[in-house]
Amino acid sequence: MVRTEHPLLSPSLGHQRTLVSFQYGDPAARPKVYLQASLHAEELPGMLVAHHLRPALEQAEHEGRLRGHVVLVPAANPIGLSQRLDHKAMGRFEFETAQNFNRHYPDLAAAVFEHVRDRMGPDGAANVALVRQAVASWLQAWTPDTELQSLRRQLLLLSHDADVVLDMHCDWEAVLHMYAEEACWAPLEPLAWLLGCKAVLLARDSGGGPFDECLSGLWWQLADRLKAAGVAHPLPQGCASTTLEFRGELDVAHEHAQHDAAAILAYLAHLRVLDAPAPSIPAPSCQATPLAGSETLHSPVPGVVVFRASPGDVLAVGDLVAEVIDPTAPGASRVHRVCAGVAGMLYATVGERYCVAGGEIGKIAGAKPYRTGPLLGA
Ligand SMILES: [Zn+2]
Repeated sequence: MVRTEHPLLSPSLGHQRTLVSFQYGDPAARPKVYLQASLHAEELPGMLVAHHLRPALEQAEHEGRLRGHVVLVPAANPIGLSQRLDHKAMGRFEFETAQNFNRHYPDLAAAVFEHVRDRMGPDGAANVALVRQAVASWLQAWTPDTELQSLRRQLLLLSHDADVVLDMHCDWEAVLHMYAEEACWAPLEPLAWLLGCKAVLLARDSGGGPFDECLSGLWWQLADRLKAAGVAHPLPQGCASTTLEFRGELDVAHEHAQHDAAAILAYLAHLRVLDAPAPSIPAPSCQATPLAGSETLHSPVPGVVVFRASPGDVLAVGDLVAEVIDPTAPGASRVHRVCAGVAGMLYATVGERYCVAGGEIGKIAGAKPYRTGPLLGA
């Protein structure tokens, strides 16, 4: 095990943050799996999962059972972790730029296309190695001029050549679910069922540049670009990347984290990263659905939010999800009903019990795609 402190760019005199990574196994070994937690800094369940993974990975390495390479970043956002306002954590958007910490990652396919287009050959594995080298060179040459950009660059330096990337987040109040790009679903499916995911949201470029899609999008987008440029050589999907949503923000409990860490360790055995008996993969715990079919419920009016359904409920069109109540309305209180517009699993709801006009209420995993444009929320 190697623990490394990576200094971020100092944004101001006398001020220096560091990112901490742990590396297990031979850095040259494959597969390489990269895990990080709490890129949205108030989303803490993944940090507790990292706490439970550390001794298990250390023991596996000590016993010579680590065949692959594992990189673990337990607290991926030291900037956001220190942001507080009115005694509340503010770890989703950087105060300085108002940017979401999990957006604006670079388009790596565009970054390396010119460099690799005339260097590709008939060997797919060699092409993967070529692209990884090109991305590494591009990242090394990237000179960030802000602390936030230096954080993005450092996270990519640690993860860009991984075969599998697990980005551990959570929602406000939610059942366990995950997001991934379609190109990654086959290798990630065993993880979904080992975790017992209650919803799986699949997309092809959600928009906005989230961390996981920066790493997975590189491969299929570069393959598309090469094909369009007349380059016929194969480029396999070099990275399966996913955003794991470990329930809700308050679900920071050893019971959950031990379950999730055990599922990840079983997945590492499945990938042959860990030398352990291959786990039997449980039956699917849900149906994978398109992110474009996920409905985000909003209330057009402000008021007190009273939930009449809970994350994990399977809803039909028209089912009542929440009432938004205005007790100041003339005559009688106004009770606005927020109802399901699509059928499916209510997989997440907001944490607050007051909403402003247009405020978000929750999300339902519908099976039929109907949305276009950027698919992720703020
Ligand atoms: Zn998040």
